[in-house]
Amino acid sequence: MLNPKEIRKDFPILNVNVHGKQLVYLDNAATSQKPNQVIDTLTAYYRNYNSNVHRGVHTLSIKATEQYESAREKIAKFINAPSDSLIYTKGTTDGINLVAHSWGLENIESGDEILLTEMEHHSNLVPWQILAEKNGATLKFIPVTESGALDLSQLNILLTSKTKLVAITQMSNVLGTINPVKEICRQAHALGAYMLIDAAQSVPHMPVDVEDIGCDFLAFSSHKMLGPTGIGCLYIKKAILETMNPVNHGGDMVKEVTLNQATWNDLPIRFEAGTPNIADAIALGTAIDYLTELGMDQVQAYEEHLTTYALDVLKGLSEDFIFYGIPDPTKRGAIISFYSPEIHPHDIGTVLDRQGIAIRAGHHCAMPLVNGRLGLPATARASFYIYNTEEEVDMLVDSLKKTLQYFNR
Ligand code: PMP
Repeated sequence: MLNPKEIRKDFPILNVNVHGKQLVYLDNAATSQKPNQVIDTLTAYYRNYNSNVHRGVHTLSIKATEQYESAREKIAKFINAPSDSLIYTKGTTDGINLVAHSWGLENIESGDEILLTEMEHHSNLVPWQILAEKNGATLKFIPVTESGALDLSQLNILLTSKTKLVAITQMSNVLGTINPVKEICRQAHALGAYMLIDAAQSVPHMPVDVEDIGCDFLAFSSHKMLGPTGIGCLYIKKAILETMNPVNHGGDMVKEVTLNQATWNDLPIRFEAGTPNIADAIALGTAIDYLTELGMDQVQAYEEHLTTYALDVLKGLSEDFIFYGIPDPTKRGAIISFYSPEIHPHDIGTVLDRQGIAIRAGHHCAMPLVNGRLGLPATARASFYIYNTEEEVDMLVDSLKKTLQYFNR
């Protein structure tokens, strides 16, 4: 089992005081904290070998290029992908938009259907709304059951020969539900549809193997997995990537340029026009090293343990709060959304903050799920990572009790 007490020593921010209390950071689904190793990689780049990549013959540029490309290799290996199928992006949102603007615009036609779910983050919904409107396609949605799972009994009705793309989150950022993407992918492919996975919440918290899943596209963000903001990755199956046109044009992504035309560079940098986010890509590589050393099986097992503990102790508050998501902790990630009919989630978040506890309150960029399906104005959400402890879960429970007292409940 992971030892969170040891892990915590690597995260300087966990010693910060908030309103005179030591920070209890339970907003990991929004963004994770960063270990010294990642912070040091960033400063080492800027202090020692800051330079542009791919085009220099001088020592610093060669070193920056080596580090930038070796980070790509590490990240690709982490999800079992070939490194020439892994594009650096700004994050999950940017990756999904790239697929929509390149492959989507050219391949989704009038009459086609795009199958999504009711639990998608806006990042995996709005780009498809725009594309469907532009190209005359129709959006369909797999419903969410009362317990917070996908209602897969609907899949063979919703998935038809008209379905061109199935785009699904592997883990809900509101309910924590882990969706059976491998099985959905198999059924999508059987009908000739393509499969995109929003892996923003899954890649940081569980082993993800694109070869095993068989998906065509998979996007994730560095900042939710110990890495810096502003960088993420998009995996695209090689045979599809070879047919796709870049959406951004300029330096680095070209091979030969004349006054009137240009040819594209090799994969994947043909999709990385301009000076890329070098420092953050290299530091994401360090985050990958950190997680690889811990072992993603271990990361998932620890989070399952902590979620089991949290769901158990939170039961004591079930008269005052409704807790959402599948009760079985093996089928969900370390994300717990809850709601009190009496106290607005923003008020809960504010009172907890006064006690040094950071949680999130809102619609979590999943308005159709929170406002629509669950029928709530917002939820409060606690989300855990490798450095959170049972003591912190206890502090959450105590603080929620104090919140109830504060509001005279
Ligand atoms: N999808 C899911 C499931 C997410 O949780 C998030 C981040 N909250 C995103 C997509 C978007 O990620 P980013 O903001 O890093 O692009």
